[in-house]
Amino acid sequence: MPQLSEKIRDALNNQINLELASAYTYLSMSSYCDEINLQGASAWLRLQWEEELAHATKLVDYIAERGGGVRLSAIAGPLAEFGSLLNLFRQVLQHEEEVTQAIYRIYDIAAAEKDYAVQALLDWYVNEQVEEENSPREIISMLELAGDSPSGLLMVDRHLAGRTRGP
Ligand code: MG
Repeated sequence: MPQLSEKIRDALNNQINLELASAYTYLSMSSYCDEINLQGASAWLRLQWEEELAHATKLVDYIAERGGGVRLSAIAGPLAEFGSLLNLFRQVLQHEEEVTQAIYRIYDIAAAEKDYAVQALLDWYVNEQVEEENSPREIISMLELAGDSPSGLLMVDRHLAGRTRGP
């Protein structure tokens, strides 16, 4: 397998940064939920932080397999306030939609360069993004149903507490 082209390697390094920035945001969101006593949401977001670290690490390992050249760059500090749980999950959805678009852009580069191995790697991320967008959509729907009801909010929080670590 030839080394990665510079263009693809740069794109994958950018994606590592985006996945780590996602992780950082989820950790901040988890802390926010803890502060407002939504322990289920806090735990859900903590698992999400772990997932994003795994997404970044998978890319680090892949670059190493294809000749190396991992370049880590600075990660901006995330917000600490999110307004409400509904607002927070709307931000999650918007963020994950942007991540999906970022992966598609790398896919386009890999397709143009006929790097089929990178496309196979990215297929995993494309599939993962289906769930990454679906989960916040479902949670947003539940929170919209709950409306201004505190007991509804607590019910959603209890539901989120049931999330288990993915495979
Ligand atoms: Mg991710």
